[in-house]
Amino acid sequence: MKFDYNKSLGQNFLKDNNIINKISDSINPKTDDLIIEIGPGSGALTKHLINKSADVICFEIDKRLESILSEIKADNLKIVFDDFLKINLKDYINSKYNRLFFVGNLPYYITTAIINKIINESNPYEITIMIQKEVALRFMASPHTREYSSISVFLQYNFDIEKICNVSKNCFEPIPKVDSMVIKLKRNKKIKSKNEELLYKLIKASFKQKRKNLKNNLNNYDLLKIESLLNNRNKTTKCRAEELSVDDFVYLADNL
Ligand code: SAM
Repeated sequence: MKFDYNKSLGQNFLKDNNIINKISDSINPKTDDLIIEIGPGSGALTKHLINKSADVICFEIDKRLESILSEIKADNLKIVFDDFLKINLKDYINSKYNRLFFVGNLPYYITTAIINKIINESNPYEITIMIQKEVALRFMASPHTREYSSISVFLQYNFDIEKICNVSKNCFEPIPKVDSMVIKLKRNKKIKSKNEELLYKLIKASFKQKRKNLKNNLNNYDLLKIESLLNNRNKTTKCRAEELSVDDFVYLADNL
């Protein structure tokens, strides 16, 4: 494809049909669901998404792609040329839709901002994203590993995370510096915390300084109470945040 790729917009277009098929095959909406694609680029994935029975809305920031994307004709497709981070998602999510399926080969520098926006402004059923491999490993990390961080706990509290496939950097044009991974975040049915506001604050504070223990990182909270709660779970405030499971954090938030 002859196109002047804009590096600052994270424009690395997927050219490997095998990967495109794998992503598409993993998305299975019904007629009354809505697919939202972020950054369709030249429409490699969009062309597959329109063959699903659901409506598809794409958000693409780069107006130069209009002539290419306008060649994709389908009654169930709407393409909005705007910055996904600036639009009001609620304006596009009609109550007639049952479940929301988000999908995107995301520009890496705004991966977290996009996920936060989706979670804050909608109730996603499923988010299928291609992201930098290292970041994907952090999202899926288990306790007691170097990669386990506040984002792992936050996402695993809300979603079951499944790896779809690894993607070599050679599958893109132009070739980026890093390898990627496609993962699916699926809203889980875990019992939710009675105090999510406190839960999120505790997660953030506990990982504030990764090398320090909970006693240091949670010194703004009632440490005696935290000690006794952690003892109930065979842990102490001398532990580091990476030793606590998602359930440990929920237990703390619900009982503090
Ligand atoms: N989906 C295409 C593919 O897989 O070949 C393109 C993926 S490319 C990594 C990222 C796309 O997101 C580009 O088309 C870029 O222009 C678009 N993009 C970047 N920032 C955006 C934003 N804030 N809102 C919407 N689209 C954005």
